[in-house]
Amino acid sequence: MSDFDCVVIGGGMVGAASALALAEQGLKVAVIEKHQPDTFANEQALDLRVSAISLSSQYLLEQLGAWSQVKEWRACPYKRLGVWEQEYAYTEFNAQDIEQKHLGHIVENRLIQLALWQQIAAHDRVSLFCPESLVNLEQDNDKVTLTLSQHTITAKLVIGADGANSQVRKLVNIGITAWDYQQSAMLINVETTLGQQDITWQQFFPTGPVAFLPLSKPLSKPLSKQSLASKQDEHKKNVGYASLVWYHQRDEIKRLSLLSNAQLQQEVLAHFPKRLGEIKVIDKAAFPLTRRHANSYQNNRVLLLGDAAHTINPMAGQGVNLGFKDVVALQNVIASAIAEGKCWHNIEVLAHYEKMRRKDNLLMQSTMDALYFSFSHPSPLVKLLRNISLFAINKLPVVNSTIKNKALAYACGL
Ligand SMILES: Cc1cc2nc3c(=O)[nH]c(=O)nc-3n(C[C@H](O)[C@H](O)[C@H](O)COP(=O)(O)OP(=O)(O)OC[C@H]3O[C@@H](n4cnc5c(N)ncnc54)[C@H](O)[C@@H]3O)c2cc1C
Repeated sequence: MSDFDCVVIGGGMVGAASALALAEQGLKVAVIEKHQPDTFANEQALDLRVSAISLSSQYLLEQLGAWSQVKEWRACPYKRLGVWEQEYAYTEFNAQDIEQKHLGHIVENRLIQLALWQQIAAHDRVSLFCPESLVNLEQDNDKVTLTLSQHTITAKLVIGADGANSQVRKLVNIGITAWDYQQSAMLINVETTLGQQDITWQQFFPTGPVAFLPLSKPLSKPLSKQSLASKQDEHKKNVGYASLVWYHQRDEIKRLSLLSNAQLQQEVLAHFPKRLGEIKVIDKAAFPLTRRHANSYQNNRVLLLGDAAHTINPMAGQGVNLGFKDVVALQNVIASAIAEGKCWHNIEVLAHYEKMRRKDNLLMQSTMDALYFSFSHPSPLVKLLRNISLFAINKLPVVNSTIKNKALAYACGL
């Protein structure tokens, strides 16, 4: 049986980041992951699962040594963020307003995971068990014994970073408060004739928003003479790539999912704003939206991080950014304990992690819910009020420089 300081269940973005962050504190860490992600190749088609990575998440990935690889593969920076319902109330947030070069990057989730895994492979204090999965865990006074499908290991601390349907959370009987938004989100990868863009935008409708996220162009394999000609054609057309997000009632998203790419393209062109321009649908998939919050992030020596602890309406692209903030908080708690000569795995020490994160996660979840309910409210008066608010945020100098920039800095995790 192998003994570890910390075992992380789930090697997704949050689990992999937490394993590296704790190994950097000198801990011996194991990561248990069910699925091996596909390796990266330049010419691969763009994945559907992408995330808007905030500045604060970028800083964490830099600190963990993974960001330069992500950038070298594919990451699309954006400098502007446009939101509106009625055109007259169009509001744009700009990186310059908060003295930054960009507001964030749109990155495929798998590439962040792979870049973190590269660092894990190079780290002598982290062991990766994959494919491997958790079967059971038992806690006693000074350790947790984990039964995996092929091994039995022990740990002083277990991190459940195994996603929204966390098995760790269930095994330690932590309940959740949850509700269903009665909505799904359809992710649609498209080619656009408007070329590479530096803006992400979102228009609100009572049925849910529609959003545009720019993506980096996949690079081609070394070109033969023949394909060089078609490559030049592509450049002439100035093709760009983007991820569209279409939020709507479940039944409508189900109907859209059954359409061919060509039919979906017509629906997108009919329902998205004109600024989208001409597009070609490449790929699509739908995801149900549920808000969940674990009733506790801790059961003795077991902590929950990322989606295992909280899921949020993705309309402001904050889910994994909150998970990365969980990682930073836990890293700080353990680093302080070690620096002060305390026992870092003492249950009271570990409790500081939840104190640092619960309020912030709840605030972001509640802000997203307020936006969701406000913009889906059918009353004409509420509609007028929300558009006047957006108009005021954009046009009144005092509101503009205070509320708008503070909201922007908060969304960037600054
Ligand atoms: C439509 C949509 C759009 C989104 N857009 C954004 C965005 O723009 N920005 C943003 O910040 N967030 C966004 N999110 C949220 C973001 O995708 C999640 O917050 C993020 O993926 C959570 O990461 P995680 O590592 O906590 O969990 P996961 O990504 O779910 O990873 C969990 C890992 O645990 C593994 N696992 C599970 N059970 C076991 C087990 N028993 N044993 C071993 N391994 C196990 C899984 O295989 C997986 O690899 C979006 C979500 C949705 C649905």
